[in-house]
Amino acid sequence: MLVLHSHSHDDHVAGDGQFRGRRGTVVVGADRDAAWGYLGFTEQPESMRPIDLGERVLQALATPGHDAAAITYYDPWTGFS
Ligand SMILES: [Zn+2]
Repeated sequence: MLVLHSHSHDDHVAGDGQFRGRRGTVVVGADRDAAWGYLGFTEQPESMRPIDLGERVLQALATPGHDAAAITYYDPWTGFS
């Protein structure tokens, strides 16, 4: 399982504790260094980064604004972001 946030505000990360320490679970920090580092974004990211979920690949785009660490995810299969 992968826990990866859209941004670091408390209402998004408050439940992280229930996932930490679970076998087979990766909880990525929601701060900019952790989240952007995990996805391979640089200081001025311009490209989308893939997130391979196994049978499905999402695309991640750094979208700082609402929060400096904000990331938008796009699912090509559904067309939703
Ligand atoms: Zn927020």
